[in-house]
Amino acid sequence: MGLLSLGTPLDWNTSRKHNEHIRANGIVQLQNIFLQHKSRRNDHFYWGDEVEYMLVDVNEKEKKARLAIDKDYILDDLNDPEKPELLALSVDNNISFHPEYGRFMIEATPLRPYDGNLLDDYLYVEENMVKRREVSQSQLPENVVPLTLTSFPRMGCGVFTSPSARPIGPASQSLFLPDEIINKHMRFPTLTANIRKRRGHKVAINLPFYPDENTKLIDDSIPKRDLFPSDQEPFLGAAKPGHVYMDLMGFGMGSSCLQVTMQAADIEQARYLYDALAPLTPVMLAVSAAAPIFKGFLVNQDVRWNVISGAVDDRTFVERDLEPYQGFDLFGGLDVADLVKAHIASLGGGRGVNGDKLANAYGDTLMHTLDSKPIQKIPKSRYASIDSYLSDEKYHSSSPYFQKSYNDLFSPINKKAYDQLIANKNFDEPLATHFAHLFIRDPLVIFSELLEQDNQIDNDHFENIQLTNWQTLRFKPPALYPSSYGDEELAQKPGWRVEFRPMEIQLNDFENAAYSVFLILCGKAILKYNPDFYIPILKIDENMDTAHKVDAARSEKFWFKNPYKWKLDFKQFEGYDLSWFDRFINDGNDLISSNGVYLNGYCKAKGKVGCVHEENGPNEVRLTADELINGSECFPGLIRMIIKYIEEELLPSTFVNSYKHCKDKETARQMIALQSYLALISKRAAGKIPTIARFLRDFVLHHPSYKKDLKVSDAINYDLVEASIAITNFDLSKPDLLKQYFGDELFNYLKARASGIWTPK
Ligand code: ADP
Ligand code: MG
Ligand code: MG
Ligand code: MG
Ligand code: MG
Ligand code: MG
Repeated sequence: MGLLSLGTPLDWNTSRKHNEHIRANGIVQLQNIFLQHKSRRNDHFYWGDEVEYMLVDVNEKEKKARLAIDKDYILDDLNDPEKPELLALSVDNNISFHPEYGRFMIEATPLRPYDGNLLDDYLYVEENMVKRREVSQSQLPENVVPLTLTSFPRMGCGVFTSPSARPIGPASQSLFLPDEIINKHMRFPTLTANIRKRRGHKVAINLPFYPDENTKLIDDSIPKRDLFPSDQEPFLGAAKPGHVYMDLMGFGMGSSCLQVTMQAADIEQARYLYDALAPLTPVMLAVSAAAPIFKGFLVNQDVRWNVISGAVDDRTFVERDLEPYQGFDLFGGLDVADLVKAHIASLGGGRGVNGDKLANAYGDTLMHTLDSKPIQKIPKSRYASIDSYLSDEKYHSSSPYFQKSYNDLFSPINKKAYDQLIANKNFDEPLATHFAHLFIRDPLVIFSELLEQDNQIDNDHFENIQLTNWQTLRFKPPALYPSSYGDEELAQKPGWRVEFRPMEIQLNDFENAAYSVFLILCGKAILKYNPDFYIPILKIDENMDTAHKVDAARSEKFWFKNPYKWKLDFKQFEGYDLSWFDRFINDGNDLISSNGVYLNGYCKAKGKVGCVHEENGPNEVRLTADELINGSECFPGLIRMIIKYIEEELLPSTFVNSYKHCKDKETARQMIALQSYLALISKRAAGKIPTIARFLRDFVLHHPSYKKDLKVSDAINYDLVEASIAITNFDLSKPDLLKQYFGDELFNYLKARASGIWTPK
């Protein structure tokens, strides 16, 4: 998004009167976008990442680490045309700084996207990421550090900001988080308040306590207060026993993540890419897990995802199909009275149990399933995993991959939007369904200045809905441009893109670069080898739940397409030379093995009876992250697919067989760097080095002042932040910490690299 519309955001009670106006015009704008861009072809593969930072104020004297909420000026400065020398710091370094939900947050991306066909760019990412930290740090006092923690351990515990602020704010009404943590731009407090008002009560996020000796049954940090009526909610059912209770958007939107966006050649390719990446979303969430602590408690899960999902969940009780708390309205802030009657008349029969209630509630926006039955409920928050695949049977025409039965999730759609799109020849059923689902949501923030738009050139109404549907993947259509633009001008503008959104942010930029590069190379390999990764959507959702579990990357299994049905010729991976990829084999039993141990293992076992996923086996099987990423005796795994891609498409011809024979030192350096990225993901998936979640959990469990009561005190929090900073900076004065975190091999490599030695002895 980047830009914030300037203007006056409307309060919910005014805003909701325009919901249908926004949706109706948004759908027209969407159709105009398709009209303008449907036939663009051969767009270049560009890609970019997004890194979100927390500004942490480290007070060495008092041993306190707090979120800095008074340093948001740096965002204005680094974007200010009137301060050319500061703006140049961003522009000249190819950085774009963006605002985020938290006043203590910044987001930074490359200003110009990377070129996915250039080896150099896969190595430049990390450099760019490091620059972003340097540039933002250069505008901050030394004691305030841009840190990439996924969740701040003590967010919501007493005083956790600098300067301190009290949780008494009207926008959030939170019992724990002050309004001062919210970005000052009116969009954000309005978003916060409108979610609460639409829902009819505060959001409620409950995370299970991690079991330990002195765990209590209830969250003892919930204050009894009498400032807002909503203060009673935790005692009316919002807070669940055995769980940490959180009551504000900020707990989720105040966490940080790593996203990557890639541009496909055309819309059909973008649709296939979106689908093929969908089954990877849970496993990448698990392998990047970095959030075991919330509101000062160790929790019994490893990731942030369901926290954000709950943090922006604006559904009313009736939509969630729940009994309201006593005395609360089933319909929340929906505009019931205005909408009821007109609609009942137009409905006809066939309503379900809640049909009348819903008809009353939704009026014009009444949603139907495809067979026209009014819906009973909305199963998911607007921040959730994807609801349906985008492709259709036609894309792989000789051998169809997608089957309708894979879209097996009950997913409500906006019938009016669907009918309009399906009547337009540019939308087939999967596309119409996808967008009609996004359009079940109400706009959350409407700016009065943007109410009237020219649907021929503006796309704000469409983006209003699109950008407040936060799913694991985002299908990003191009923007709308004046009709005077010719094909060549349009081709210069961003095209059809897919954004991969589940990953957690990593502490060190080596890691953030590694996850980004891994994912983009997955995308590239998918587009080259065209695997069939389709499994039913419900199985992906099951995997999302699995990905939340403690140590899921190491201990859990995920539904995945039976590798024998990937429609890849596995033979092409056999006997193919991996010898250049031999930097990280010291322990002899690593995946990536110059003597081909692993590869041979796979080759030999293939076809043997007893190989679990026989050719005629089931469509889906359950694999560990290790099996999926590193391969098993029965199939090559994602990494081998990526390595093959690198060798075929990125490896310079000067690079023969192995770095050892490579005269060109720069190429050797690049190959080793790429290899180290893949090695990080490989080792995390194999459980050879800890995920960040495991590392942080152990850090707390083994802290001398930890009392086995799950509580992360100010002192533990401070030490944890210190350790995180040491990891971020690869601080060689703490070698034991770094070894524990990266493992010996990667530690040795990174250490050598830090002193300018790139190639092994
Ligand atoms: P959002 O927050 O909506 O996802 P951002 O602007 O924060 O959008 O991030 C978009 C990412 O996409 C950035 O990394 C950017 O460099 C990258 N990007 C920009 N243009 C393209 C393009 N044409 N193709 C692929 N990626 C792009
Ligand atoms: Mg962004
Ligand atoms: Mg962001
Ligand atoms: Mg965001
Ligand atoms: Mg994004
Ligand atoms: Mg159509």
